[in-house]
Amino acid sequence: MLSIVRGGRQLTRFIPSLGAAAVQPTTYSSTTSAMSGEKFGIPERYLGSEKSVWVEYIQLALEHNPLNLGQGFPDFAPPEYVTKAIADIAQGDNVLLHQYTRGFGHPRLVNALAKLYSRLIGRQLNPLTEVIVTAGAYEALFATILGHTHPGDEVIVIEPFFDCYVPMVKAGQGVPRFIALKPQKKTNGVISSADWVLDPDELASLFNAKTKAIILNTPHNPLGKVFSRSELEMIADLCKKWNVLCVADEVYEWLVYKPNEHIRIATLPGMWERTITIGSAGKTFSVTGWKMGWAYGPAGLIRNLQMVHQNCVYTCSTILQEAVAQGFELELERLGRPESYFTSLAEELLSKRDFMASFLSDVGMVPTIPEGGYFMVADWTALTSKVRLEEETDRNKDYRFTKWMTKNVKLQGIPPSAFYSPEHSHLGEDYVRYCFIKKDENLKKAAEILKKWKESS
Ligand code: PMP
Ligand code: GLN
Repeated sequence: MLSIVRGGRQLTRFIPSLGAAAVQPTTYSSTTSAMSGEKFGIPERYLGSEKSVWVEYIQLALEHNPLNLGQGFPDFAPPEYVTKAIADIAQGDNVLLHQYTRGFGHPRLVNALAKLYSRLIGRQLNPLTEVIVTAGAYEALFATILGHTHPGDEVIVIEPFFDCYVPMVKAGQGVPRFIALKPQKKTNGVISSADWVLDPDELASLFNAKTKAIILNTPHNPLGKVFSRSELEMIADLCKKWNVLCVADEVYEWLVYKPNEHIRIATLPGMWERTITIGSAGKTFSVTGWKMGWAYGPAGLIRNLQMVHQNCVYTCSTILQEAVAQGFELELERLGRPESYFTSLAEELLSKRDFMASFLSDVGMVPTIPEGGYFMVADWTALTSKVRLEEETDRNKDYRFTKWMTKNVKLQGIPPSAFYSPEHSHLGEDYVRYCFIKKDENLKKAAEILKKWKESS
């Protein structure tokens, strides 16, 4: 019997050779039941992943009812054609659309996705073998990482990173290796997400014979960085040199602010055969609650995802897939034209981005201007004297700042240190992440809340 301390509580490790009888009652809590204790504790491969910023901050928002610029989701209606499609499908004559559909993706949707991406990447995609539909981009990431990670495989993760990447790598018994994007201070005082860069030598030093994959998120959450062609080439060259898989999380592919351009790494020479690209209907059609995503790539790599998916989710909602397919069919006709939702949404977001940058600067924060996505990180430390950080107990200052602001100023942001490894979490501490895909009236409210707070003594 081995005693360990986890989360400040004394637990007793179950030693299999001693059998169940060897498990003593623990000092776990007064509500200890017969089924608690180490035998029913969290498996080793999930240890360290217990905390989730989303679980914590969504609960915090429910308790304190702030203006919520935390979790990323639009607070306005999606395009009418997708909501109308749902209504029509639900009431329509094809009653089979209420039943299971093909496991690896509803035929109409995989056909639409294959058509769209064939055009975008300049290569004919096979809808049956090179595309898979998943329960959100989350499941596409899960199926990719779990389907491709052998115990001990190293996976390179760029910090700050969308927080689920690392728990997924660990669930696959892989080993995350971290490299942080670091801001180069601009002389004119304006910081763009383009100023957050990787050190090429540091990146090269992470690749070795054990490297299985690198996870690349462009446009990036939380920075809004849109990786440039030369940055992508640097990553691609290392992937080719070391025979490494590139997991390209491109869920914000349509949310790019001119003159920046989203470049799909799968289109770089020699990269198609080693890239799995992930997308999300939630971001594409402003329907995050539909939880519909996909991945595309060469059949030999997608096969591993199919294997994870077929034994877990098996098939996604038929109605939602049908509606997303209809949305894509319509958008395929308008691609690149002003009436395209993908074009108009990015245009609408540009003014929201600029408004947020100006009201954050007005109160003394220093925003990083995103080239893409719908998040903005801002350095809040000039306002330290206005917050009582000592009232919060978290280790990282940004957690204390965002919690105190949620409770006392009624404005919620996300602490970026959640997007770093524990060793590097200090790199996120001076920042807060706000989401700007919100109605103008709500962004104005946010501006007023901050102004009033700044002016108060
Ligand atoms: N990747 C990134 C970078 C994200 O921001 C999100 C948003 N949740 C996801 C993946 C997951 O997307 P989905 O909601 O489609 O699961
Ligand atoms: N991608 C969204 C964000 O970064 C939502 C995350 C989530 O709900 N887990 O805020």
